[in-house]
Amino acid sequence: MAERTLHGTGATPRSGVGSVVWYGRDISLLDPDGVEVDPETEIERFADAVDTARTELESEREATAERVGEDEAAVFDAHIQFLEDPTIEDAVETMVGNGLPAPNAVDAAFGEHIEQFEGMDGRMAERADDLRDVRDRLLRLLTDGERVDLGDLPEGSVVLAERLTPSDTAQLDPERVAGFATVTGGRTSHAAIFARSLALPAVVGIGETLESVEGGTEVVVDGDDGTLLVGPDDDEREAAASGSGAAIVDESVETTDGKHIEVAANIGQPAELDPAAQRGADGVGLYRTEFLFLDRETPPSEDEQYEAVREVLDTFPDGRVVVRTLDIGGDKRIPYLDLPAEENPFLGERGIRRSLDPDSDLFATQLRALLRAAADGAGDLAIMFPLVATVEELDGALDALDAAAADLEGRETEVADPEVGVMIETPSAVFMAEELAARVDFLSIGTNDLTQYVMAADRENERVGDLHDPTHPGVLRAIRQTVKSAHDEDAWVGMCGEMAGDPDLTELLVGLGLDELSMSAVTIPEVKTAVSETEHSAASERADRARLAATRSEVHDTLEL
Ligand code: PEP
Ligand code: MG
Repeated sequence: MAERTLHGTGATPRSGVGSVVWYGRDISLLDPDGVEVDPETEIERFADAVDTARTELESEREATAERVGEDEAAVFDAHIQFLEDPTIEDAVETMVGNGLPAPNAVDAAFGEHIEQFEGMDGRMAERADDLRDVRDRLLRLLTDGERVDLGDLPEGSVVLAERLTPSDTAQLDPERVAGFATVTGGRTSHAAIFARSLALPAVVGIGETLESVEGGTEVVVDGDDGTLLVGPDDDEREAAASGSGAAIVDESVETTDGKHIEVAANIGQPAELDPAAQRGADGVGLYRTEFLFLDRETPPSEDEQYEAVREVLDTFPDGRVVVRTLDIGGDKRIPYLDLPAEENPFLGERGIRRSLDPDSDLFATQLRALLRAAADGAGDLAIMFPLVATVEELDGALDALDAAAADLEGRETEVADPEVGVMIETPSAVFMAEELAARVDFLSIGTNDLTQYVMAADRENERVGDLHDPTHPGVLRAIRQTVKSAHDEDAWVGMCGEMAGDPDLTELLVGLGLDELSMSAVTIPEVKTAVSETEHSAASERADRARLAATRSEVHDTLEL
């Protein structure tokens, strides 16, 4: 029997109630107590499952080698090796001999190996993911489980998973899914960000205890408290279904002493567009275009990208739409691109570094699509470059933009001259903000990554969640330095990290001097209300005291958090 209340990190301040569908491990293991097991039959079932898994893996290997390449196909060799590992096989057979059903024995035997690999560094830790894949394949075969199709779930489903990747979350239909909860992940993991854009109740980082919740169980996902309630009573069910949220403010907002603050939405996928407009966004402050590249087998063409961006521009005819160029790498992997595995992907070829690869034309294609959309679309398009660390990188990106414009002129296509900006996500970009701002129209602070790099705390790792907190004075000083550098160079400065969407921090951010706040749609109404209740001069004075504090708790005392 699962514990009744499981604790994790609330990703969206909303609650939902529904019935559990496990994703990734599409099975519910039998409770072995009281189950009669015939060891001989179970060992035979296990051997059959191994044979079928091998056949499946060999044919997937062949298809991948043909479609993508030998390097990518190699992962299947590793899976076959794990499948045939004699230590695991012996362990399964011993456990079955001791009376466990085959699926439970597979789960336990693989579990031990997964734990060992998880304790190691770098590449070895990644082997844990390979083992999980093999385990899940065997469990599916042993339990006749079909892989759950995230895009076609029964209405009222609550998805439970070990983790959800950006491409998994891209498939979730907010009309049908009542929420999700995951074993791993933090507030700024992309699954959590996506949940906020759709106002989808979600709790992440619950830990292994989540695995005790059976498929089909009714649960309440409380993204406000960060809890998952198993088997709610009538009152709890009703409280979860009633929902919450501030009144929607459609007009643009200013502080009580007249400073206009642009409140915009972060979006990544078409499904996020309507919620953003309906919740009163003035425009889009961050369009994560990498989602256009996920869940397909080849990159989108220039025309497809043009159409996608046009749709966003036409949804905000009177607003500004900041389109970020491809930000792949880190946790955002695109299987069909031939990208080498990296030991430390968050410190590797991410963002602009990938785009500037001279052997790839992805960047040029995207820039042409953006320039065409800017000329034809209703709203004002702005282009923004991610993960810039050096002035050289920015100069390279600006050269590429000029080259794309020249290309289009050569084709006699109309070209616009959009605003251009840089994301401030690395400590180097903070120190170089003046030089960066002198070359562009705006800066936008990405606090998810900036906090990760300033504090040396992985944004996905709940164990360092207290350090990955943008209210540490070190991060506040980095934000203030960026704002000042931008304003000294007559550039506007926004924030599009998750910090911008926390209404408890709106006064602080206005006080630090931000001109624009861009966030997942769910809290736009609350942030707009908070801006209109803030006095800019008093907020600046309080923000100064907060950033000059020595500790996070002094910051919180100053801000009365
Ligand atoms: C950020 O890092 O704050 C950001 C907005 O970019 P992403 O979350 O997509 O990395
Ligand atoms: Mg980022």
